[in-house]
Amino acid sequence: MGVLQQPPVPAGFTGTRLGVCNLCEAICGLRLTIEDGAVTGVRGNPDDPLSRGHVCPKGVALADVYADPDRLRRPVRRVPGVDGGPDTWEELAWDDALDLVADRLAATIGEHGGNAVGVYLGNPNAHSLGFGTHGAGFVRSLRTQNRFSASTVDQVPHQLVAWQMYGHQLMIAVPDLDRTTFFLVVGANPMASNGSLMTVPDFPARVRELKARGGRMVVLDPRRTETAKVADEHHFVRPGTDAAVLLAMLHVLVDEGLARPPAYVDGLDHLAELVAPFTPERAETFSGVPADVVRGLARDLAGADAGVVYGRMGVSTQGFGTVCQWAIACLNLLSGHFDRPGGAMFPEPAVDTVGRRILGPGRHGRWRSRVRDEPEFAGELPAAVMAEEITTPGEGRLRAMVTVAGNPVLSTPDGRRLAEALDQLDTMVAIDFYLNETTRHADVVLPPTSALERDQYDLVFHGFAVRNTARFTSAVFARDDDQRHDWEIFGGLATRIADRLGTPLADDAAAQLAAAPADLVELLLDSGGRTTAAELVEHPEGVDLGPLRPTMPERLQTDGRRIDLVPEIVVADLPRLEAALAEQHEPDELVLIGRRHQRDCNSWLHNTTRLTKGRPRHHLLMHPDDLSVRGIADGARVVVTSRVGAVEVEVTAADDMMRGVVSLPHSYGHQLPGTRLAHASTVPGVSINDLTDPDRLDAVSGNAALNGVPVTVAAAR
Ligand code: SF4
Repeated sequence: MGVLQQPPVPAGFTGTRLGVCNLCEAICGLRLTIEDGAVTGVRGNPDDPLSRGHVCPKGVALADVYADPDRLRRPVRRVPGVDGGPDTWEELAWDDALDLVADRLAATIGEHGGNAVGVYLGNPNAHSLGFGTHGAGFVRSLRTQNRFSASTVDQVPHQLVAWQMYGHQLMIAVPDLDRTTFFLVVGANPMASNGSLMTVPDFPARVRELKARGGRMVVLDPRRTETAKVADEHHFVRPGTDAAVLLAMLHVLVDEGLARPPAYVDGLDHLAELVAPFTPERAETFSGVPADVVRGLARDLAGADAGVVYGRMGVSTQGFGTVCQWAIACLNLLSGHFDRPGGAMFPEPAVDTVGRRILGPGRHGRWRSRVRDEPEFAGELPAAVMAEEITTPGEGRLRAMVTVAGNPVLSTPDGRRLAEALDQLDTMVAIDFYLNETTRHADVVLPPTSALERDQYDLVFHGFAVRNTARFTSAVFARDDDQRHDWEIFGGLATRIADRLGTPLADDAAAQLAAAPADLVELLLDSGGRTTAAELVEHPEGVDLGPLRPTMPERLQTDGRRIDLVPEIVVADLPRLEAALAEQHEPDELVLIGRRHQRDCNSWLHNTTRLTKGRPRHHLLMHPDDLSVRGIADGARVVVTSRVGAVEVEVTAADDMMRGVVSLPHSYGHQLPGTRLAHASTVPGVSINDLTDPDRLDAVSGNAALNGVPVTVAAAR
């Protein structure tokens, strides 16, 4: 054990202990009250220099997950039902389970090649230190190019733009929220999400502080979201047309001589040509945002003491996600606030995953998907092609899948079809501590420990944080002898697979997989120069490394440390945007968007009673006028139909919705026959991804266009 890891609490412990919440990107520091070995209280830690005592309702769910009798603690193997009866699950010893999985995966690789095995990585992996240190080694051991993750139903447009403009996919510029005076939020709802690609615990307090110093927050969104309700202004924007608004704002900056790019950018003249056709008047026609509002936003951004534009799920998970994120980057660059206090800035984490190239910078198109010929980005193919890669016969068909902390049946487009496809695999393995709509298709489930049993250092989210801090949190509870951490599962499988394929791991790779994540972090911290492991031990609440600082152009990873304003791969998508904007729409056409609630955590935690009680939040939201023209009553059951499927759900009249837009929350629709989570199957709601369409992608990045899905809504019979 190195210096970082502190002993877990002893059995029967009573007292307080610091913890950390890893459920969302806000990474709140916690104070846990423990009585006789059970967590009886979860509060925010006021001494944490980043989260400052914040905790949201989800934070307390960490204790529920730890104590949840439904959580798997030992491996299970599916046992087929007898005489048509339901399948059951049988516990296995860890060595037997790891041997069984390695045997089956190695046999598939040996017989059909590595690409016959697919791997899907869910969002919780980004919140796990064990995945950060050991996940890549495990994925490499599968020898497959069929790698998928939640990133392609989420944020790859940000990564692609960061790679093209700043030289590394994780060089994400974040709003310097604590010092900005003009904050334009496009398609994001940090009041519910607590920030994303912007680690910002206690967003509500930070917005109050923004207003107290005379600043303004403006929101563009097809729904008057929780964030819009606390903003100074909100404007509806038709889904999928945000790009026209953002390009029109650029048009205004250029046209009115307001552009003040840093000296290290190239391509301003070309950018001016590209945005010339995108006038505010045209943007109004497409988007519904009045031209004078578009002009005013551009002028206010340029004229602010400190201004920044931030766009998230609504502008990434749509057909023009990359163009939107590129336009946002250009607005931040041209407005004069880039890399300046209060503008878009780059955090300096104590473990600099970008500068040290712990993760590669990002590449595009080195290989393509077998069926649909979609290019990889950053080593991944779009999650939207998974089902067809399993079900389409021929050389290279996916015959085995490994899912790691993911539930793509609920979180990727056309989840029903994916569920059917999973049953066609020869082998499916899930590394997950819940049986859910995806893992119930597995042959073997390998459950890792839960958050309170693991050490945690946020390798990812310190890099997106609105303030530079560092914090290491030791596991609160010891794992039982018959439990395994995720990194132990990764190491155990990688080693066994390599052995079975006759290519044992090299000594250094084996040593890295055998090392505890805390020991690897200790090396990274001590060689990083911003803090030390010893300092983090002395300050378990976290170390404050200060506000964000200007670091450009020195930290750019591009050739000559310059920023290209007009990356060819993005510019080439503009004709497609023009064509889409020119499409004619029927007056009563409806499009579907997702939404998020503060008490939901993607597709999981719906089996915690305290987070699922209260007013129902699974309803379809629809503008009263849209209900009226269809003769549908508020509260009625309706059928929502898209190209790929239909769902039946209750509808709620909501003038918070833009006319022509309806909304369902994402990651509902729990259907768990044959699993132990009988409780969860009582949570109402339907899966929005039974309506989303795997054919609708952002053409540049391959991100699923989950928002703006054409649908019809009719009263249920
Ligand atoms: S804001 Fe996020 S990190 Fe903080 S307690 Fe809530 S879920 Fe956990």
